[in-house]
Amino acid sequence: MKCVIALMQHETNTFAPGSTGMTDFARIFDLHMPPVGARAINAVKGVDLAMNAFIDLARELEWEIEVPVAAWAEPGGTVEDAAFDALSDQICDAVADGCDVIMLDLHGAMTTERYPDAEAELLRRIRLVAPHTPIAVALDFHANLSAEFYEHATVVTGYRTYPHIDMYETGERAARALVQVLADSTRYELVSASMPMLTHMNRQSPAMEPMKSIMDRAIRAEASGEVLTASVFGGFPLADAPQTALSITVMGTKDGTAHHDLLDELKIMAWQRRADFVFTPEPLEKTLAYAGTLTDGPIILADHGDNSGAGGPHDNMTVLKAALEMGLTDIAVAPVPDPEAVEFMWQAGEGNEVEISLGGKSPSPELSIPAEPLVLRGRVKTLTDGTFTITAPMMTGMTFSIGRTAVLETDQAEIIVSEDRTEPFDIGFFTHAGIDPHTKRYLLLKSRQHFRAGFEDLAKHILMVAGPGVCSSDYSQFPFRKLQRPIYPLDLDMKY
Ligand SMILES: [Zn+2]
Repeated sequence: MKCVIALMQHETNTFAPGSTGMTDFARIFDLHMPPVGARAINAVKGVDLAMNAFIDLARELEWEIEVPVAAWAEPGGTVEDAAFDALSDQICDAVADGCDVIMLDLHGAMTTERYPDAEAELLRRIRLVAPHTPIAVALDFHANLSAEFYEHATVVTGYRTYPHIDMYETGERAARALVQVLADSTRYELVSASMPMLTHMNRQSPAMEPMKSIMDRAIRAEASGEVLTASVFGGFPLADAPQTALSITVMGTKDGTAHHDLLDELKIMAWQRRADFVFTPEPLEKTLAYAGTLTDGPIILADHGDNSGAGGPHDNMTVLKAALEMGLTDIAVAPVPDPEAVEFMWQAGEGNEVEISLGGKSPSPELSIPAEPLVLRGRVKTLTDGTFTITAPMMTGMTFSIGRTAVLETDQAEIIVSEDRTEPFDIGFFTHAGIDPHTKRYLLLKSRQHFRAGFEDLAKHILMVAGPGVCSSDYSQFPFRKLQRPIYPLDLDMKY
């Protein structure tokens, strides 16, 4: 048996400025091009990824493995067609060379210049060269999935956590189900439903209601053998595409009705709880004023309106500016991506005073957000290479790089400025630069949910701060054009 295993992940925020190109898919590996073959296997070794579960299972079954590419880009703007075409070609060429099984580690919310539903397009292209080869796909919890995608996939599973700490396990579930299907391909059937629901990401976590009951029901059904697989996808709401929605997929045996029954049950559960998936942000001034009254830290200020984990430029300075103006002190901030500021502080050298124009360099025309850097005076406290090993339960063990960094120390804050754009989800973002987050009063993190992986346990308080940006929870700001309508809650009175 020969299998083709590939990783191609990008969560596309179609409202984000800029585009995502080929080099963006290699940056996490500290390379210029996404790795291939043994180099790709080596690049992801030991990391909590679905791809590693595929590799482990293939080795266990003594299958021949071919890895045409491992490509992963930080969420961001629309993917350039040239990058998508090149990555797809690498995968399709490997499949065309001949294989018995295909296992893909995909995101599910990738949009390119031409293809709003890039994963469906990838599968369509694979089907041109391999019409009947079984395809197992492991997906992010934020996947937006279309009927066309399901037409081509054989087995589909999704993460059940947010922050995503079950990536390997999701791959394992897909691979194990695939092995079952291989034994008798005519026996199983995959059914799915896309719900007309645009959920708020602050309300999606399967660890909390309303998603908890729904996800727990799916998990129980799969664990008990009631169905072969069951996955619930929160969907990625910041993608203006027809398939953007909460969705559900269940696989069971054709001779029974359990998979259809479970799908119906989960659909009803999701729809009945639709109002609970709505998050109403409070004004950031109000949240920061409350933060000022708290005395015991660390207090996490989660600036979620502009975070790279949901595709934001991650350099909007509004929340930091407001926090400083309100007189908050002992704040640690990580990280503000600004390569120019990093270079400037490296030139200045450690210990020297500087005045810099920080961040705010990425205007977002879709939401009429202007460029607005924050001018700060301070001391260059530390310079680092920005490399550390992840200890949080997400991507555990990965050697991670945020590019070179410089820590700017002012009277009120220590700000880690980095060359790369990354959502902070591990204490290494601070500790590698000599800052102990346990000892700070405020931790200002540009993050919505993933910060919980590394910071939830140490926080005394967690406050969601609604800064402006292309990841805002205020959907009325977004000029949706391609989204299916009606959809809840944009069309509040809709019937389903
Ligand atoms: Zn996700």
